Amino acid sequence: MNIISQLPKSVANQIAAGEVIQRPSSIVKELIENSIDAKSKNIKVIIKDAGKQSITVIDDGIGMTKQDSVKCFERHSTSKLSTAEDLFTVKTMGFRGEALASIAAVSEITLKTKNQSDRIGHQVIFRDSKIVEQKEISFQQGTSINAKNLFYNIPARRNFLKSDNLETKYIIDEFIRCAISHPEVSFILVNHKAEMYNLKKTNLKKRLISVFKKSYENNLIECKEKYGAISIDGYIGKPENSKKTRGEQFIYVNNRFIKNPYLNHAITNSYEGMIEEKKFPFYVLFIKINTDLVDINIHPTKTEIKFEDEKLIYNLVKSSVKKSLEKFNVSPSIDFNADINFTKNLDFKIKTSENKEVEKSYSNKKKDWEKIFANVKVENSDKLLFENTSSIENENKPVQFLENFIFKQVGEKLLIFNHKYCQQRILFEKFKNSNLKSFTNTQQSLFPQYLEFSPSDFRIIKEIIDDIKSIGFNIDFFGENSVVINGIPSGLDDINEKEIIEGFVEEVKNNNSDIKSEKRDLIIKSFSKKAKIINNKILTQIEMNLIIDRLFACKNSKYSPDGKQNYIELGIDKVENLF
Ligand code: ADP
Ligand code: MG
Repeated sequence: MNIISQLPKSVANQIAAGEVIQRPSSIVKELIENSIDAKSKNIKVIIKDAGKQSITVIDDGIGMTKQDSVKCFERHSTSKLSTAEDLFTVKTMGFRGEALASIAAVSEITLKTKNQSDRIGHQVIFRDSKIVEQKEISFQQGTSINAKNLFYNIPARRNFLKSDNLETKYIIDEFIRCAISHPEVSFILVNHKAEMYNLKKTNLKKRLISVFKKSYENNLIECKEKYGAISIDGYIGKPENSKKTRGEQFIYVNNRFIKNPYLNHAITNSYEGMIEEKKFPFYVLFIKINTDLVDINIHPTKTEIKFEDEKLIYNLVKSSVKKSLEKFNVSPSIDFNADINFTKNLDFKIKTSENKEVEKSYSNKKKDWEKIFANVKVENSDKLLFENTSSIENENKPVQFLENFIFKQVGEKLLIFNHKYCQQRILFEKFKNSNLKSFTNTQQSLFPQYLEFSPSDFRIIKEIIDDIKSIGFNIDFFGENSVVINGIPSGLDDINEKEIIEGFVEEVKNNNSDIKSEKRDLIIKSFSKKAKIINNKILTQIEMNLIIDRLFACKNSKYSPDGKQNYIELGIDKVENLF
């Protein structure tokens, strides 16, 4: 007996639809992308019950003719691809001709459309994989597609959907992804009658500010890089505005949103040492690349892609993010030129030429910060507030506040340093740049110290002994499971070598890293937190200036190795606003 038969078309379509339409947000994405491909200038999305009850997308694009308004529901019918070669050069969002057929297989669709060359519009109602009504209607140019009762014919799938809140969030995510990559198009999102987004046509920066929030205006750092035919453009967020969740991270390749953990790593890696652990930076990056160097065709929902030379893209992304961050870091909005004392000891150049806007924001009127902060220095001394006015020569003297803070005026700004973090950064960079051969700063100990370890800890010591030497310890193996320390890094105050070396072992053990350079970073980070350049409770002016000068000689002066801010700046307007 023959037992094989062809599946009915409706069932085959449902199965195929499973790949493309997983939830209401997939419909929103596909419909918006079709509207974008149809060159629309205005796109409106209306959802009800998290899209489960109804999703409507209305556009003012090229619309469809009568024939196309029927054909578009057939699987593999597309206006965007005609030959196999096209597949490799495709520039539209869609190209498979699967979306409408899939949506029609799992919901009830009403399509209204009018092509610009037609006098009259067309309406098609599609249900159970067939047309149930087709008529002429009067309609403005463009297309409106309404998908109702999602998964009405597959209750099991419907039951798998998440809560309305979560499904609405997925829809918003898709909406935002499209809105970001097409700032030249106006977008509206209406959820039940409430307008959630109304995004006017604009440029990328303004689009990001209107999608996220006003305060992003000061959070965005531009990113630009070009290498041959590959370009990277977009914005990254300032380190201090990183979030606890990953939500605001977007990479697009040829304007298509993608997910790529490898590139994500390139970016987060560039922020290393600037943001706290478990925090995520904001980024929106657009990579443009020749279509033959990338394969967008490996996944039906199309968020994963393959680059021909993934390493090259990785390095390019990393270098462009690093460059932008560096520019932002070495050019804090302080007018270094206004303070000759402050810069005279610095042996590095600050790029101010690229920072004209910042310079301009400096007015000429000078304020004396000691006057403003006199009440901090001397408690209950209102009198002093008015007395010490001949302060020009005091202007740049740093002042210690409580134990940890240093106040210092630079130009028209008041900087408040946390000197513990500053010292960590200084040491971190000093040791990071040192290596075994060039490091000579060891101070010989009068009495050697012997340390014994468990066999498993001793194994770790063996792995990291060269790194320990590279920061200035004179350390050697001494019999089984022991080491002897004959010298310590010089120029540091009061260090407890036993505690520090044991700390290294703990750090490496807890972090479980197999990568050599990461181990070295762990050791240096741990060391920079335990060692001190100056360990006094009360700092002299010379010591405070030394810390500040050395901090600004660092490549990354803004953050401690753990990503804590080393200093904050108070502009004159901020201080004035305090009163
Ligand atoms: P694809 O986008 O991969 O071509 P779809 O199933 O999403 O496949 O759409 C099929 C075809 O229907 C498209 O190629 C396009 O010609 C037409 N179409 C769909 N949506 C619209 C729209 N909003 N405006 C104009 N044409 C559309
Ligand atoms: Mg499509």
